[in-house]
Amino acid sequence: MELTRRDFVKGAGTGAVVVAATGVETPAEAYSPRLKTTGTARVNSICYYCAVGCGIVASVADGKVTAIEGDREHPINRGALCSKAQAYLQVLDHPQRLTKVLYRAPGAADWQEKSLDWAMTEIAQRIKTTRDATFRETEEGVTVNRTEGLAALGSAVIANEECYLLTKLMRGLGVVWLEHQARI
Ligand code: SF4
Repeated sequence: MELTRRDFVKGAGTGAVVVAATGVETPAEAYSPRLKTTGTARVNSICYYCAVGCGIVASVADGKVTAIEGDREHPINRGALCSKAQAYLQVLDHPQRLTKVLYRAPGAADWQEKSLDWAMTEIAQRIKTTRDATFRETEEGVTVNRTEGLAALGSAVIANEECYLLTKLMRGLGVVWLEHQARI
C-alpha cells in the first residue's frame, strides 16, 4: 500500500498510519513508551527542599512513587521544578539511602547501627544534661532564662507548622541560637 504525505498527516496520532503503511492492524500504543503515570494515583504535595515551596504531583502505584512532576495548578511554580526536585525519584529509591540510625561515638572511627528508640532517648538525655548544666535564670541582675549551650538548626524538610512547634520547643528550653535551614 502506498502511503502519501497527506495520508501520513491525516493518520498521525490515531494509529491509522500504522494500518495504512503495513496493512496489519497494530495498536498505536505498541509504538509508544508506556507513560510512567499510566494507572497511578496522583498525590499533590509540596517540595521540601527549600523555602520556595513549589507544588509537586507524585504518581503512586502499589505504594511506590513512579514519577514526580511540577504541579501546573500551583501558583508558585506553575508546573516548573528545579533540578533538585526533579531528582526526587533517585533519592527515594537510591540503594545507598540510609534507612537505619548510625552512631559514631566521640573519638571513634567506626559507625554502629542503633535503633531509632535508642537515638531518641540518647538525644533527649543529652539535651537535658546540657540544658541543666548551662541554663541561666539571670545575668548581671537581669532575668534571661536562657541557655547558650544549645543551638537549633531547623530542617528544610519541615513545614510551617513543624517550624512553629520547633520554635515553641526551643524557646521553652531557653535556646536563643535558633535558625531555620530553608534558605540553604
Ligand atoms: S528545591 Fe526547587 S523545586 Fe523544590 S521548592 Fe525549592 S525551587 Fe522549588
